[in-house]
Amino acid sequence: MTARPTLTRNQTLVLQTLTAAFEPLSAYAILDRLRDDGFRAPLQVYRALDKLLETGLVHRLDSLKAFVACSHPHEHGGEDMVAFAICENCARVWEFSDSKIEDRFSAWAGAEDFLTKTTTLEISGLCAACRLGGTPAKAGVSAETRRRR
Ligand SMILES: [Zn+2]
Ligand SMILES: [Zn+2]
Repeated sequence: MTARPTLTRNQTLVLQTLTAAFEPLSAYAILDRLRDDGFRAPLQVYRALDKLLETGLVHRLDSLKAFVACSHPHEHGGEDMVAFAICENCARVWEFSDSKIEDRFSAWAGAEDFLTKTTTLEISGLCAACRLGGTPAKAGVSAETRRRR
């Protein structure tokens, strides 16, 4: 990615909401947080997300049906491989990319003549803090519960 694209007010608000969030947010959770800013319909959020996804500023986590702000938008474009480690307990997400893994996928795609559009790797598990804290998925705080809110 060379230059930051120009964002509309709504796109900027959605991006700011995701950047400020500790955990991935669903479109409805984003809508809830932006009601005071004039957001009324999920479509407004989805339209903004479409553009943000396209520019690589935001990623979609299919396993959670939620969105996260890219933690390094200047480093990769839309086609690059992105990997996410998601803590099942606190719902925190780490984004990383690894050129070796990417090379493996490209080699496989080349051998199979497969035209790859996007490669997203989602790894679920427990983060160091949650393991050390010894708080195995408390009912009220688990990622599962938060997501349904
Ligand atoms: Zn990213
Ligand atoms: Zn955790």
